Amino acid sequence: MDRYAVIGNPVVHSKSPLIHARFAELTGQTLTYTRLELPLGGFLAGVDAARRDGLRGANVTVPFKFDAFACATQRSARAELAQACNTLRFDTDGATQTVYGDNTDGVGLVNDITRNAGVPLRGARVLLLGAGGASAGVLGPLLAQAPAELVVANRSLDKAQALVARHAAHAQDHGVRLGAVALDAVGSAFDVVVNGTAASLAGAGVPVPARVLRPGTLAVDMMYGPAARPFADWALAHAAVPRDGLGMLVEQAAVSFALWRGVEPPAARVLAELRSALA
Ligand code: NDP
Repeated sequence: MDRYAVIGNPVVHSKSPLIHARFAELTGQTLTYTRLELPLGGFLAGVDAARRDGLRGANVTVPFKFDAFACATQRSARAELAQACNTLRFDTDGATQTVYGDNTDGVGLVNDITRNAGVPLRGARVLLLGAGGASAGVLGPLLAQAPAELVVANRSLDKAQALVARHAAHAQDHGVRLGAVALDAVGSAFDVVVNGTAASLAGAGVPVPARVLRPGTLAVDMMYGPAARPFADWALAHAAVPRDGLGMLVEQAAVSFALWRGVEPPAARVLAELRSALA
């Protein structure tokens, strides 16, 4: 049976095995999908061993997305922009073995915003909070939707500036005004606000003033579960529309699944099932 896994440290909390098992069931694919926790510093050795054991592909999560990027022998354009991979596919053609690396986080977020939440990004004013691995993964696909403006705000301004500099040509290609600011220098009344910081995870509250919202702003936190509640409450208190990161999680998994199996799974259905199971 074809084997897949989510690789991380820790990985015990991951919902990916549940999501991929359901995708496989609904598309009639025969595969197994498990969790693989590797020791810090042990990514390459662990992946080599798993691959010798028949692993066909993997999702990669914290803290190994940069190791995954480094180990890929071929990469998608969006992975090159992100400089991080959350998806690996191990291909064998005779004696030639390749590792294809992709980053599906951004397209997952875009699909959740545009399809599941029904909010267009084209022509919108978008605020992206954070400049870590998650924000690096989503910036390219957000720009490809051609918003009018995209502002990256981060606690460490230099990281936001570096991320923006790396994406300057991509932004120009799509006609987007792209800029970097410190968290306390953000503008106001964005159409879409995406929280890609680890603030919710750390229980540190919302890292920007409420002026970034206007009534009806879509306020997406990449976090989900109870830790995402304070951000959602903040959004509701200012008449914005909150959305957690569960949709992004399922949508990025769907793109990974299609890359491995050549079949598009019914992501919206699995998201609805997961939401009611977790409620
Ligand atoms: P990183 O550690 O790479 O980056 C963390 C980012 O958060 C940095 O920009 C950091 O700022 C900022 N930050 C951390 N603490 C605070 C704080 N108290 N106030 C303001 N900013 C803060 O993490 P990731 O980018 O990998 O992950 C970020 C979040 O996204 C996590 O909660 C993760 O669970 C979630 N995520 C969700 C996914 C999904 O599918 N739903 C997929 C991927 C990630 P600085 O640069 O100044 O340190």
